[in-house]
Amino acid sequence: MKKILIIFFVMMAGLAIKSKAQTVYASPKGEKYHTADCKLSGDADGLTLAAAKKAGKTACAMCKPDEHLKDKMAQCSGKTKDGTRCKRMTASKSGKCFQHKDS
Ligand SMILES: [Zn+2]
Ligand SMILES: [Zn+2]
Repeated sequence: MKKILIIFFVMMAGLAIKSKAQTVYASPKGEKYHTADCKLSGDADGLTLAAAKKAGKTACAMCKPDEHLKDKMAQCSGKTKDGTRCKRMTASKSGKCFQHKDS
């Protein structure tokens, strides 16, 4: 019984680490790290935020990966022109992305 419990806890810990690992994208020669959907990320490789910082890379000013990786990210509550819900994620208190915050 004890063994099963230990395995259970190890598995849970593994899952927690996986979901909390913050992945950013940076090319080996690049000085910046990016979010997955940043157009400046190019042929970047995925790595953890901690690894990127350790390598001396800084956050991209275009995609602001640090903001994207905050826990409070939520899907924008705004609507696109064709009436579907905006798919952008936002950390703003209004719950809307930069494109919809004024609407
Ligand atoms: Zn970027
Ligand atoms: Zn939006």
